[in-house]
Amino acid sequence: MNDKSLISGYTELVGLMAYPIRHSNSPAMQNEAFREAGIDCIQLAFEVDNSKLKEAVEAIRALRMRGANVSMPNKTVVGKYLDQLSWEAELTGSVNTIVNADGVLTGYCTDGIGYMAALKDKGIDLKEQKMTIVGAGGAATAIQIQAALDGVGEISIFNVKDKFFEVGEETVAKINAHTHCKAAIYDLADHDTLRKEIAESCLLANATGLGMKPYEGVTWLPDMSYLRSDLIVTDTVYAPRMTKFLEMAREAGCRYMNGHGMMLFQGAEAFRLWTGKTMNIAHMKKYLDID
Ligand code: NAD
Repeated sequence: MNDKSLISGYTELVGLMAYPIRHSNSPAMQNEAFREAGIDCIQLAFEVDNSKLKEAVEAIRALRMRGANVSMPNKTVVGKYLDQLSWEAELTGSVNTIVNADGVLTGYCTDGIGYMAALKDKGIDLKEQKMTIVGAGGAATAIQIQAALDGVGEISIFNVKDKFFEVGEETVAKINAHTHCKAAIYDLADHDTLRKEIAESCLLANATGLGMKPYEGVTWLPDMSYLRSDLIVTDTVYAPRMTKFLEMAREAGCRYMNGHGMMLFQGAEAFRLWTGKTMNIAHMKKYLDID
């Protein structure tokens, strides 16, 4: 009984509540981070959907868990069971991290924080700059709200005219009402405006699922002429590591970043919220085999 990684009567617990969830790499990442930092805590995944979410949240309090991660379909629902929300969680309408402080449960949204931290890690600062982002779903909204809160000057959002377009319109209204950032949304089918907005932006982001299964090898970017070598190009997708979109960026000579950084740094922020400690990023990059 001399291995620190053994679970004892003192070991604390954070959950991960989502359905489906068995495929997630969050427990592997958080458990390695706890082990590396010498923190006697583990993360376990629980298959929970909306129907048992209220009871699952109550269990955080009853079992005095440190908190939990939350993923779909619970991210947009769990807020109503918590005592308070951080400002970014309130604006995005989404919670991916719960912290239990002596029975008081606070919800945070670290996805956008993770994206912005991943950019910072690559030496990219978007303060006062303009970005164009395609997508208006969960990942896109978190990025858009956080970018606005972090001082990005202008955000142009493009989306197809599906149910998410309305979500994008609501995000634009929130950003314009509550931050100094100027936001607008356009139809992704409007290629003239897409070209103009990209030309004026220093960063172009994909926050749709195009590029990952079942859309491998697919992108909404019409052709290479929309890119220029000083444009920074990012994708929220990380499996595959190189999407069609990022391949085009590489060919155009752009700096590019896939979704691994966002995934790592959203977890690092959750780790910091639970433990007050900074995740060892260099170690975790090696462990996860990402750059
Ligand atoms: P979502 O379902 O909430 O949103 C999907 C978005 O894709 C919407 O904007 C929708 O309009 C758009 N879309 C769907 N079909 C399209 C099409 N044919 N053409 C153009 N746009 C289309 O999904 P989400 O949770 O926001 O996830 C989006 C992507 O981000 C996924 O690939 C997901 O894996 C990734 N993601 C990555 C991280 C990370 O940490 N790197 C975190 C969350 C999500």
